[in-house]
Amino acid sequence: MYSTQTPFSVCFRGLDTHYSQQHTMESTQACDIAIIGGGIVGSALSYFISQSTQNDKKVVLIDRSLSTLKGSTGHAPGFVGQFNESEVLTRLAIETVKEYTKVPGGFDVVGGLEIATSCDGVDRLRSRCEMAKRAGLAAELISSEHAVSMAPDLVKDDNQIALYFSGDGAANAIRITSFYQEQAQSQGVKLVEADATEIRQANGCVEGVMTTSGFIQAKQVIIATGVWATELCKFDIPIPIVPVAHPYMYGEIHTPRLRKAPWVRWPQHHVYARDHGGFYGLGSYDHEPVLYQPKATAIGDWIENFDGTLSHAAQFIPEETQIVPREKFNGIFSMTPDNMPLVGNIPSVGGLYMAAAVWVTHAAGTAKLLTQMLEGQAVDETIRRALDPSRFQGRDMATLTQESLNGYNNIYKTEEQKA
Ligand SMILES: Cc1cc2nc3c(=O)[nH]c(=O)nc-3n(C[C@H](O)[C@H](O)[C@H](O)COP(=O)(O)OP(=O)(O)OC[C@H]3O[C@@H](n4cnc5c(N)ncnc54)[C@H](O)[C@@H]3O)c2cc1C
Repeated sequence: MYSTQTPFSVCFRGLDTHYSQQHTMESTQACDIAIIGGGIVGSALSYFISQSTQNDKKVVLIDRSLSTLKGSTGHAPGFVGQFNESEVLTRLAIETVKEYTKVPGGFDVVGGLEIATSCDGVDRLRSRCEMAKRAGLAAELISSEHAVSMAPDLVKDDNQIALYFSGDGAANAIRITSFYQEQAQSQGVKLVEADATEIRQANGCVEGVMTTSGFIQAKQVIIATGVWATELCKFDIPIPIVPVAHPYMYGEIHTPRLRKAPWVRWPQHHVYARDHGGFYGLGSYDHEPVLYQPKATAIGDWIENFDGTLSHAAQFIPEETQIVPREKFNGIFSMTPDNMPLVGNIPSVGGLYMAAAVWVTHAAGTAKLLTQMLEGQAVDETIRRALDPSRFQGRDMATLTQESLNGYNNIYKTEEQKA
């Protein structure tokens, strides 16, 4: 089945350096688990599988570009807000933060502020604060003045109230991904740089993955290809992973402040800002949702209307900060009809799993959960059902796509399935 002459490019990623070497096909011709996609989700998965005490398995991590991250992970500003009105997502986020704080330089606990600009917003923040506390998170309503003192360059002094999450922060998604790959590799995981073109099946079970460098036989295959996930989903259930365009900008470089400001979000206006240290970043969901098919990277062409979206967002920042775009981009990520990821097995194909539409915020927790599923361990039924990739069975794709787009302007709201 294989040509042992076929070269694979096997890339090794260090924390700060990348290098690659040629490797022959022989060492990767057959494996137990093939993970397709080496973004933060696939890389975390390779790490947790390799760390598992049950692991005696040969694991291969396949990505078309290991030396440079071409997916969403390479462009995410990395906001991690643990509280979500979906209990499932909150639990995954809490687990994720626990893991990211173990990664050297992986997570900066700068905190997060949500700002209410009107009475409606105040009610919402009060209720979010109560729910977050019930979920065991540190959450506190603070005065507008207090919020200004925490982030004077980002918060105006004419707001109503703010909600402060002291345990939230910024994930360095590229560093975390490198770390997970490096650790996985040291535990024997093979990294293969190739394009996966097809998942082969026989008699209702996976056989392996056809790649541009040859066939990789595998007993279990996991699709973790982010915004490209549907390209490999040739099976009988709808997989509504809808790639959308999203504007983000970096402001002018300035001397870093003594202490980094917390993340700031204006939930009523779908706007958020980050202190990157030497510059500020600004993003907005306040525009007509745009379905955007990714090409080679998760960066799309700039959309003219996005200039208006970002200048509107800039109105929330104090004038003295003079936030203007030094660089702006259209980053692509995935939406789903219920704003929940698709994680778990594909019932009609034995050995086939997926983990897609997963945010950086939930990646490590999700990867741990899927590792348990792969090992046949029992997982919480509420979580399994909420994330089940087959939950849209019987629905038509046109409606599911529209529902996914509708969710874009309400990105933090979810409708999870009840057990
Ligand atoms: C502008 C922007 C802002 C964001 N902000 C945040 C944020 O603040 N907080 C947050 O939690 N999330 C944020 N996200 C979302 C987050 O980045 C993604 O949800 C997350 O990175 C997805 O990770 P992934 O590993 O699933 O996908 P990706 O990072 O896209 O990785 C998929 C990988 O699969 C590979 N691949 C695809 N197809 C194939 C194939 N056929 N063969 C081989 N390899 C293949 C790609 O090369 C890629 O490396 C943001 C995203 C963007 C774009």
